[in-house]
Amino acid sequence: MPLYNPVIYDRSLPAQSYWETTAQPPECSALQQSETCEVAIIGAGLTGLSAALHLAQAGVQVAILEAGHPGWGASGRNGGFCCVGATALEPERLLHRFGTAAVRQFYQQQREAVELVKALAAAESLDLEAQGNGEIQVAHHASYLADLAAEFSFYKNIADYPCQLWSQSELVEHGFASPEAVGALHLDVGFGLNPLKYSCGLAEAVIRRGVKLYAHSPLETWEQQNGWHELHSPGGCLKAKTVIVATNGYTEDRLHPQLSGCLLPVISQIITTRPLTSAELAAQNWQTETPVFSTHQPLFYYRLLKDGRFLFGSRGDTDGSLSERQRRQDWMQRRLGELFPAWQQIEITHGWNGLVAISANLTPQIGQLDAQSFYGLAYHGSGVGTATWVGQALAHWILGKLDPAEISPVFRQPLKSFPIAPWRVWLLRGMCGLFAAQNWLKCRERSAAQ
Ligand SMILES: Cc1cc2nc3c(=O)[nH]c(=O)nc-3n(C[C@H](O)[C@H](O)[C@H](O)COP(=O)(O)OP(=O)(O)OC[C@H]3O[C@@H](n4cnc5c(N)ncnc54)[C@H](O)[C@@H]3O)c2cc1C
Repeated sequence: MPLYNPVIYDRSLPAQSYWETTAQPPECSALQQSETCEVAIIGAGLTGLSAALHLAQAGVQVAILEAGHPGWGASGRNGGFCCVGATALEPERLLHRFGTAAVRQFYQQQREAVELVKALAAAESLDLEAQGNGEIQVAHHASYLADLAAEFSFYKNIADYPCQLWSQSELVEHGFASPEAVGALHLDVGFGLNPLKYSCGLAEAVIRRGVKLYAHSPLETWEQQNGWHELHSPGGCLKAKTVIVATNGYTEDRLHPQLSGCLLPVISQIITTRPLTSAELAAQNWQTETPVFSTHQPLFYYRLLKDGRFLFGSRGDTDGSLSERQRRQDWMQRRLGELFPAWQQIEITHGWNGLVAISANLTPQIGQLDAQSFYGLAYHGSGVGTATWVGQALAHWILGKLDPAEISPVFRQPLKSFPIAPWRVWLLRGMCGLFAAQNWLKCRERSAAQ
């Protein structure tokens, strides 16, 4: 039983993203016979493609089953923020749960992830359309400046990242002006990219290295016989000694009993404007290509694209139907106009959504289902770099090049099921309402205290 409206899982539909006007996934046929490989990967997003690339580089025979086309899931339709932050736990809770050493290791591994994307692009001649320098976290109200100062201290002293706090005038000087931007934290880790070009480039690279990439081949049943995994898709069966699950927000509960109920898919949504003129950019004093996050609840993420379009993202609806998507898009367009009044009337050319995954541990998950099956999942909406790194980590683990103890414990929590798992989307709806009420109260209290 899908958790959202079936339209969100319909692989025959394009994402309708702006990125689709810039790149074309490689043509891949469906699995139409039975065959055998050493490692089978389920899902051709960044986790699966990166794992495939690193295994193929070591001479392993790899095949991928993908229900849509390569990059069809979140990987080809995200905001392109190649940044850090793949957990829903705040720094204080992370430190309390895991201790300083494990948290520092986690942030160092996310920093390696950003560098890995750049290194893969250089090695495989991928056109990333890389933009910007680091990431900017913006306080939308003066009462959030203290939160940013605490984050600054965490990133500087624990994560060991180069970072700076900017006053409102420094933000105007380095970035932009908005009535809902009163100061910022700049992390010098991360950049923006074109996610569909990146995903398609990785898919082409794995095909070049002999990986069999089967598109339009959903895994329907998974059996184990005599030490072999048998993955059944409508056109045939893929037999493998080792399996990697790389299905993230599109993981169905029936895929594997140990994964059932462990992930909460959440809809993220994006709109893009037509290209802005230099006069329109100047009207908001816009002068940065660095990706921006805000302290709003729900969070806004935005960036200027190479051709002058403005990309604006936020959490999506909790239903998944086209009508709810449109309603959410109208709200996002209105909020875009409030944040950037000079752009109130600018035409929106594209609007789309997709699924990110949250784990019950609120941390990303790397692990084993049994001795020969592995998973890498749950990047909490921040998977461009981390999924690439996790794919590499899984490949190196399988190859015996990486001891799993070298992966930060933050990634290695045992899988946990959500309470009342069949109704977890209702839990999400309840939480969204609660957060909205709490946020409204918090803003009132903070404003009154000033
Ligand atoms: C709108 C949106 C904006 C986002 N913005 C950002 C951002 O700016 N920066 C960032 O870091 N992260 C962002 N993310 C999150 C990021 O895209 C993901 O964390 C990352 O792409 C996950 O990669 P993945 O390969 O694990 O999963 P996915 O890319 O989701 O790939 C999973 C694949 O598995 C396939 N699959 C599922 N079930 C089966 C099956 N049974 N058989 C065969 N195939 C199957 C799916 O079709 C899918 O293609 C965003 C996500 C969305 C949706």
